Amino acid sequence: MKTFIVLETRNNNLKAVSLELICAAKKYNDNNICAILVNESADNFIDDIKKYGVNELIIINTTEPMVTSTNLTEALFSLHEKYQPNGWIFSNTVTFKDCATRIAAKYKLGCVTDVVGITDDGLLLKPLYSGKAIEKKQILTNGFVFTVRQSCFELVQQPSREMQIVTEELGLIITKIKVKEIATKIKEGVDLSEAKIIVAGGRGVKTKEGFEVIKQLADKLGGAVGASRGACDADYCDYSLQIGQTGKIVSPDLYIACGISGAIQHIAGMSNSKHIIAINKDPDAPIFNISDLCIVGDLFEVIPILIEELSNNS
Ligand SMILES: Cc1cc2nc3c(=O)[nH]c(=O)nc-3n(C[C@H](O)[C@H](O)[C@H](O)COP(=O)(O)OP(=O)(O)OC[C@H]3O[C@@H](n4cnc5c(N)ncnc54)[C@H](O)[C@@H]3O)c2cc1C
Repeated sequence: MKTFIVLETRNNNLKAVSLELICAAKKYNDNNICAILVNESADNFIDDIKKYGVNELIIINTTEPMVTSTNLTEALFSLHEKYQPNGWIFSNTVTFKDCATRIAAKYKLGCVTDVVGITDDGLLLKPLYSGKAIEKKQILTNGFVFTVRQSCFELVQQPSREMQIVTEELGLIITKIKVKEIATKIKEGVDLSEAKIIVAGGRGVKTKEGFEVIKQLADKLGGAVGASRGACDADYCDYSLQIGQTGKIVSPDLYIACGISGAIQHIAGMSNSKHIIAINKDPDAPIFNISDLCIVGDLFEVIPILIEELSNNS
């Protein structure tokens, strides 16, 4: 009985959600956990992975860049056939969700995406209706696949297991897609999907210049900047910052919504945040229904006071 988890790297860093997969695997089915890593510089991550306690690490050595889900899945198919794992766990990112469903379809395994928790009796928790309800799911097939939403499993170090390291030489993988070049958009500040603190601005910031105050508060807190679609549509900021049903799904420790009404499509992307603070001048704004702290006021008056207080206390 072996559970495979697939680790993800970006810009030569192990993504935080990768380590959360180890914790999810232990909670679901704490047996033989095998981590899979496709990276030329896998050596840099071995110590980090060891801290969380996996039994085996398979490093895929290949001449083909594994940036598309088609290439990556081809590699994972060959590992599945060789090792016959009992189940697979991936992060709930676009590429990995695609791999997860391809593996589930090929080997006829039950599959649940976007898991945010696991009950003590092994049921998988998945949000429904834009986060308004939580569904409990049980996989009944003889083998399983699921994907895990970022920041939903607490990282617990448990370095006691002996970790065996295996290298698989997969050579050239033939797929219909050839990657010619990878162009990365240069982003400033903290990555939204990994941020512990997010300050998000909505249409209430009124102008592109008004959005600056959101960035200043995020900088002060060491957090990332996010936005509602209202703010993106009005061109106050880039669409890469959009949070919600058609944007990014985030689960930070603290989410500060500034001038955001709280439409259901926005809430779908952030309702899993551990603490929510909303600043809105309308006392009836729906965002207050899901907020832990509601500040009724003009964001251009409230945020400078917060920044000043934070400066005085730092
Ligand atoms: C299919 C579909 C998908 C969608 N996907 C998304 C999505 O992924 N993400 C998303 O966000 N939206 C999404 N939307 C759009 C969504 O329905 C809302 O239109 C959008 O979220 C509204 O953005 P907003 O809250 O910034 O703007 P508004 O609804 O206009 O709210 C602005 C708020 O700012 C407050 N305000 C104004 N001035 C101030 C001030 N000076 N100080 C404090 N408060 C102030 C107002 O009281 C108001 O509550 C989607 C819609 C559809 C139909």
